[in-house]
Amino acid sequence: MLWIMIMGLLGFSVFAAYRGFKLLNWTIGMAAVLVGFAVFTNVPTLAIVIFSVLFAAIAIPLNIKPLRRQWLSAPFLAVYRTMLPTLSDTEKVALEAGTVGWEGELFAGNPDWNSLLEQHWPQLSSDEQAFVDGPVEELCKMLTPWENSHELADLPPKVWAFLKEKRFFGMIIPKEYGGLGFSALAHRAVLQKIGSVCAVAGSTVAVPNSLGPAELLVHYGTDEQKNYYLPRLARGEEIPCFGLTGPTAGSDATSIPDTGIICKGQYKGKQVLGMRLNFDKRYITLAPVATIVGLAFRLYDPDGLVGDKKDIGISVALVPRDTPGLEIGARHLPLNVPFHNGPVRGKDVFVPLDTLVGGVAMAGNGWRMLIELLAVGRAITLPSSSSGGVKLCALTTGAYARIRKQFNLPIGRFEGVEAAMCRLAAYTYAISALSRMTATAVDLGQKPAVPSAIAKYHATEMGRRVITDAMDVHGGKGIIMGPRNYLGRGWQGAPIWITVEGANILTRSMMIFGQGAIRCHPYVLKEMQAAGLEDRSKGLAEFDRHLFGHIGYSIGNAVRSMVLGLSFARFAAVPTDRKTARYYRKLTRYSAALAFASDIAMLSLGGKLKHKERISSRLGDVLSQLYICSAMLKRFEIQGRPAADQPILAWAFHDAIYKMQNALGLVVDNFPNTAVRVLLKIFIFPLGRHERQPGDRLGHKVAQLLMSPSETRKRLTDGIFISDQASNPVGLLELALPRVIATEPLERRLHKAETAGELGSGDQQSQLKKAVELAIISAEEARELEAVRTMVAEIIKVDEFEGSYLKMNTRSVPTQIRDEAA
Ligand SMILES: Cc1cc2nc3c(=O)[nH]c(=O)nc-3n(C[C@H](O)[C@H](O)[C@H](O)COP(=O)(O)OP(=O)(O)OC[C@H]3O[C@@H](n4cnc5c(N)ncnc54)[C@H](O)[C@@H]3O)c2cc1C
Repeated sequence: MLWIMIMGLLGFSVFAAYRGFKLLNWTIGMAAVLVGFAVFTNVPTLAIVIFSVLFAAIAIPLNIKPLRRQWLSAPFLAVYRTMLPTLSDTEKVALEAGTVGWEGELFAGNPDWNSLLEQHWPQLSSDEQAFVDGPVEELCKMLTPWENSHELADLPPKVWAFLKEKRFFGMIIPKEYGGLGFSALAHRAVLQKIGSVCAVAGSTVAVPNSLGPAELLVHYGTDEQKNYYLPRLARGEEIPCFGLTGPTAGSDATSIPDTGIICKGQYKGKQVLGMRLNFDKRYITLAPVATIVGLAFRLYDPDGLVGDKKDIGISVALVPRDTPGLEIGARHLPLNVPFHNGPVRGKDVFVPLDTLVGGVAMAGNGWRMLIELLAVGRAITLPSSSSGGVKLCALTTGAYARIRKQFNLPIGRFEGVEAAMCRLAAYTYAISALSRMTATAVDLGQKPAVPSAIAKYHATEMGRRVITDAMDVHGGKGIIMGPRNYLGRGWQGAPIWITVEGANILTRSMMIFGQGAIRCHPYVLKEMQAAGLEDRSKGLAEFDRHLFGHIGYSIGNAVRSMVLGLSFARFAAVPTDRKTARYYRKLTRYSAALAFASDIAMLSLGGKLKHKERISSRLGDVLSQLYICSAMLKRFEIQGRPAADQPILAWAFHDAIYKMQNALGLVVDNFPNTAVRVLLKIFIFPLGRHERQPGDRLGHKVAQLLMSPSETRKRLTDGIFISDQASNPVGLLELALPRVIATEPLERRLHKAETAGELGSGDQQSQLKKAVELAIISAEEARELEAVRTMVAEIIKVDEFEGSYLKMNTRSVPTQIRDEAA
């Protein structure tokens, strides 16, 4: 009976921890169990007394707050203050920027799936849809990627004019200022469609609508600045760029050495209070054609002309192109995707103080502005463009793999090719879902700092994998550049998207988990803030409250992680009325494991975790995969759970779960402390690691889905531009695909006859003639076969050029060579 009582107490504690009971409820429950055993069983009185005393010794100090604060929280707070990572002001800004949405649920270990499934899912308004179907479609028809990237190194003048006329540069500018005032979803739809055709046009449209002068002005500009600049930017009369990066300050952008010194000077013939700017920026998109430069620099006021602060901090100003001293116009060449990009330099450039975005009142707030806006911009620009790019890859690779034959079979029928195609399809599904979910978060009023980092990183990383797979499947057809090549430039440009808006290694190592752990954790930020309060007694009271909430939360997650691991999450609270219930169960399990592992990592490593990038990036991978899976499941639900799409979802899901297991496994295996390693292993993988990579049969089904027209293929590639013209190489593929499929039985019949020697040894033409004579196929069928074969021949063709065409135009001498000569 004594053992039964011990098991009862333990069982109740596990149950309470799993269900997240409050401390008081656990105390009452435990007391009730003890009383029950004392009254209704024959457990020896001495044992009851000993257990009651032990229990009281734990429960009383925990429940009586003044005692708890003095005995437990105060000494812990003293140690905690020494463990806190030292955060620079800029890191603090980054941590405080943005809001927490669904990722907070995933991070906290017990996601409420119903709240995700019931979340409002906005759609494009009719105006927005009309813009996507009208001007965007028209733009896509006008684009000639080869001409843009190889011949002009620019968009043709008529395209620039069209972009301005239709206000493509004003998507994020409110209608009252003459912009389009689009939702994030519409913004995404536009970039996705353009991204499926031409990266030069995509970047040209993306930049004015992302972090830069327009967005800064909309959020922080003075009325005067808004009234002057926003209508001009919306109409394309001003072309903006934004300069933050310089030769010595790349990823560590807050270390910019560029300065602004407040002083008096001459501006347009008048003596005014202004800033003398000295700066050296590089890699600035649209700089060569910009008329207005958004510039980040550190502002100083050595003579106290606007206040008593000498080092005011990072500030942002708008510098017109014609300002004396501004050097602009030279171009970099980003991996042969020649959108305008180049350096911007300035020596003793004098501008008045009212060029500061938001005026003097916002001086020194530059970093906060940039980080807040980046939380939004990163959710849209690159994920949407990647989504367009990968959908094009899925569409064309599926068609090409069916049309291109080797060894008398469509290449997509070979298992080796299937392996690339199923990954390509699954990642396309994932990227599109991820980009839709983060854009939706923006439309729901969030500033999704962590999801936008996840989306930027994973959309571009998976995108790089997809374009590589697509290239591999296309073989030489993907490699030979020219107007017929719809993939090569995308493959060349993939590292650009990896690098911009926060290079990916840094994003994975520092931002996803670094921000996620502190932003999404229900207690850590609150504890840090309480520990930093100047009012020490208020600080202790707050710290105590959060600390004990945190302890309960950690115990809960440890127990949940283990119980879910032992039971393969069979009892997790998930929507059970659907086939995907087991997916939700697995996610709940890994969510609890992530919450537990994160707490243990933070507790045992403290401030050192910041430098343990391998641990934090792997924990970030788990959070990311949880988020990506949530986005895919939401997508599946919104689309009405189409059974035909299930194989793609299943492949993508198992791949993600396998990655989660590996990432957590690597955290466990490499944890620096042996005791913690053992603890993590027991609680996270109590029965070992059982997730498997998606199976071959599933992979086969997925690959085949890409290779014939269907609703699934349409859904997978929706929202991109597909020409209906045979003169367009992608249009030709799509026109040919159904006809190639329809004539496959004829080809098989002919092949059989040929192998049997019935068609003689002539060329294809004479064999066809013979087949008609022998009634193997009809005359009409022969005509169709001939037409289809002509189309196929056209599809597999690659470009050829005169040698002189490919030679560099020697009249334009590269800047560097010119400089050296000088
Ligand atoms: C085509 C193009 C367009 C661009 N457009 C603009 C623009 O319009 N405006 C603008 O201001 N900037 C722009 N940039 C700059 C871009 O944001 C930077 O290139 C980027 O921030 C990385 O800086 P970096 O190239 O100097 O690399 P570095 O900072 O030198 O980094 C090199 C590598 O080290 C990694 N790394 C650095 N620190 C860490 C760390 N702590 N932990 C882990 N890894 C780390 C990075 O991830 C990267 O892989 C553009 C860049 C390119 C290439």
